[in-house]
This record gives sequence, C-alpha cells and structure tokens, in this order.
Amino acid sequence: MTKTPGRARYTGDPASLRGLRVGAYARASRAYGEQSVTGQANEAEAWAERHGCVLVGDEVFIDNNLSASRFAQKIRKRFVDLMELVTRGEVDVLWFSELSRSQRRLSVFADLRDVCRERGVLWVIAGRVYDLADPMEGALLGYQAVGSEMEAELISARVRRGKGTAANAGRPAGPKTYGYRRLYDSETRKLVRQEPDTELRTTVGVDGTVVQWSPAGVVAELFAGLKGGKTLSRMARELNDAGIPTPRGARAWTQLVIRRLLLNRAYLGERLHNDQVVATDCWEALVDAEDFWTVHRVLTDPARRKSLPGRGVHLVSYVLKCGVCGGPTGATRKDGEVHTLHCTERGCVGVNYAATEAYVEDVVVQWLTRADELVSLRGAADDRQAVQARAEVERLRSELQGFVAQAAAGKIKSASFAVIASGLEAEIEKAEAAAEAVSVDPVLRGRTGPGAAEAWAGMDVVARRTLLRTVALIEVMPAGGRRRVPVADRLRWTWLLGDPDDGTGSDAEKETGTDSEAGAVLRSA
Ligand SMILES: [Zn+2]
Repeated sequence: MTKTPGRARYTGDPASLRGLRVGAYARASRAYGEQSVTGQANEAEAWAERHGCVLVGDEVFIDNNLSASRFAQKIRKRFVDLMELVTRGEVDVLWFSELSRSQRRLSVFADLRDVCRERGVLWVIAGRVYDLADPMEGALLGYQAVGSEMEAELISARVRRGKGTAANAGRPAGPKTYGYRRLYDSETRKLVRQEPDTELRTTVGVDGTVVQWSPAGVVAELFAGLKGGKTLSRMARELNDAGIPTPRGARAWTQLVIRRLLLNRAYLGERLHNDQVVATDCWEALVDAEDFWTVHRVLTDPARRKSLPGRGVHLVSYVLKCGVCGGPTGATRKDGEVHTLHCTERGCVGVNYAATEAYVEDVVVQWLTRADELVSLRGAADDRQAVQARAEVERLRSELQGFVAQAAAGKIKSASFAVIASGLEAEIEKAEAAAEAVSVDPVLRGRTGPGAAEAWAGMDVVARRTLLRTVALIEVMPAGGRRRVPVADRLRWTWLLGDPDDGTGSDAEKETGTDSEAGAVLRSA
C-alpha cells in the first residue's frame, strides 16, 4: 500500500507511516558520542522496517567523512542526490540520525524545511517524527537547529541509542584536550560529554607563593597573555615558576607546548579530523573566536617565523635589511660585546650596533607618539570589526589547509580539490582586502599617542621587534666612502602604515633626514 505522494500527514499513530517512502541520510563524522555511518545506516534500516516503510533507492544515502562547512557542501554528493529526489516528490519521509545545529548550515536547514513543508515531507530525527505542516513542530525544529540545550539532549539520546551498537563500543575517544575534563557514563563507560575543567587546585610556586588555578583558567590566561603581548617563553617561565603541572606528556611548560596549545581549535569547541573541522560547538569553548584568531594570526605570522635567527636577543638584528642587496642584517661581536650590525649575506654594509639600535628606538617612538590619528584612521575605532575580518581570513586559510591535507591524503579527488581551492583562494583574497582596510595590527593597539614612550618601555624585545616590522621597512645604506657618517644618514625608512607628518597616511617612501629631532641622540657609526 502506498500513500498519496507528497501529502504525508502524521497523526501520531506509527501505523500511519506504513508504506511511506523514506529517504534516509547518514553522515560521518561528528561530535563525541555519535554513531558511525554504519551504525546510523543500520538504525535507519531498522526504523524503516519497524514502521513498514520503503527505503528510497533501496539504500541509505551516505556521505562519509565530510566537513560541515559551507564549502564542503559542494562535495556532499549523496545529500544533494537525496534532495533532488525530495524536490521531484519521490520522498515522503526524510530520516536523519540527528539534526546538526551548526550555524553555517542554518540556511540549508531553512531551505530544506521549506521544500519539505511545501511537499508535505515528514522528518524523522533521532527516532522522533516531525510534521513540518504543524507550526509547533516547525518551531521545535528551528530551536533544534540553533539551540544548545537541545543538543545536549540529542547527545544523551545518541549515547542511549548507541549502547547496543557493537560498532560503537570501545571506540577510542582520542586524547583529552588540556583544560577540559570528560564525564563518562558509569554504566557503559562511554563518554557523555567534555566540559571545561574549572576545578581549583592549589600549588606552591618556586618562590613560596601559593597559587590557585584550574586547567581551564590556565588556557584562558594563555590566550589573554599572548594577546596582551606576553611572549611564549615568558608565559612558560611563569607557569613553571608557579609550579603548575604541565599537560600530559610534557615535562615542562615550554614555548612549543604553549604554542601548540594556543593553536588548538578544540578550544573553540571544534572537533578536527585530518586537519579538517568535522564538527562545531562540540563542547564549551574556552576562548572566543575573535581572541582565538587574533592569537592564531600572531603565532602563524610569517614575519614571526623569519625572526627566529635573531629572536629575543637584539632589537634590530634581522629586523633591519641591507639596503644594497636586500638581505638580512645580523649583529657581530667584538670582545664579547655586540659591536656591528652588518649584511649577513654579502657584507655589503656595516654600521655601529649600539648607535643604530638607540636611533631606531628613538625614531620609532616618535612615530608612535604622532601616529595616533593615522592608526585610528586605519580603523582602530572599530577594533571588533578589524579582528573579525582577520578572524575570517584565518578561518578561510585553515579551511584551505584542511582541504590540502585531505587532497594530499587522496581523500578528495583532485578535480574537486581544484574547484574548492580556487574558490577558497578567491574568498581569502577578498577577506584579506577587507581586513587590510579596517585593520590595525594588535601590536600597535594602545601603543600610539602621548603614552607611546611609556608603552614602548614596557614591551619586551620580541614585541618591539614585531612592532618595528609592522610599522617600517628599515634599510642600512652604505656609507659611500665617507667616514663617521651619522646613523641617521645610514638608514632609509619606509613607513609601511604611512607617515603621520605626511598628513595623508600614504605609504609613500620617505627618508628620515639628519634634521629630524632624533638627530639629537645620534652617535657616529
Ligand atoms: Zn647586502
């Protein structure tokens, strides 16, 4: 027996489902506690059989291992196939193991709901039947699509349903992320949920100070610390000094341990598989997205990596460039003291180190003091907008990296990859332009205007180097055969964010002349 196509009504009586055509959809792999695709497919088949329904196409539509992102939708092939059948009126009931509430797919939810409501297609989610023609049911689904409370219920429902599924039993949950704790079902020993570990512990630091801390608190402080300009090594030292135990597997807090922690997207509540985000809002985030991406950007900035040769030692080595060959400059020592800054590649130029450093500091502090207006012109007035724009760039980049990894592993076809990658690259370019237009580098924030000198004094050498690179390209020029040429005459400045004295904020190259106020502090090279 078959019902009139496209006019399914659910009366609350399971018998009324008999004979309906069920389009069942399963997808891997989502949050903790979720069933495998096989588990979902088995459940769909069992449900159809129990209710006397017919599986459309005689099978469950399965998309394996796909991202929930809007880009990945392009390759959710079986989902698209199934939707086409819905549109053609060949489906009476859509069966899902769960309704994902990922924000990025809210529009998909809305489209799908409208198409199904129009055609009278019922939904079955986690075993419950929804009639979209009923406004209450529609609203309920809407809440499910956005609400986090409902998700918790769905997870526990999944855990209950998963109890008998052999495929589910003993599945490794992966290593626990530092800052979280996991709650297990005492009976099934299955993971129920992961939540921030905010329980306070007490330790005694090396100097005898008693410190109260929690792993979740440590994570939050690390993000705030880096964002506030602390260095990785300083934060590592602070944690070690406070006697706070390390994440499992690490002997001490090191720059590397902290760096890895700060780049971990689990702190956004996301779950990754093969470098690809497979689920969002899996658990409570320990950092908001803007802060996370700000920190991410600082840590992955190519300029930061390039600074490694001279890191944290001297202010200007490897920051200044050789004005002849464009190569880096490094400091050499004489009698154990830093003496000369010279072109490391070819030795084209050399200049007195101490004089150069003092002069550069002076000029930059003056620039910062006058740059208040220039910096606010660049959008400091709307910090939030800038950070969001940056975050979007970083998110897209990560997305692309994920696809690169998948393509490299042969998990997506090169043709699909090319389409996705070129689309993403175009988006990244657009997002970068948008970010550039409104953005002020975090390193400049609060460090311009009358308080600039004081702010500079409070910065460590790594932050100062970052700031120097952000605001200026400084080249060491040859002395041209003359002797005792003042440092001011040996340096060529290109203000990357514009020159406040210009009044135009343009990026025009401008050389600093000897008549600048900074000339007062000159020493000979
Ligand atoms: Zn050179």
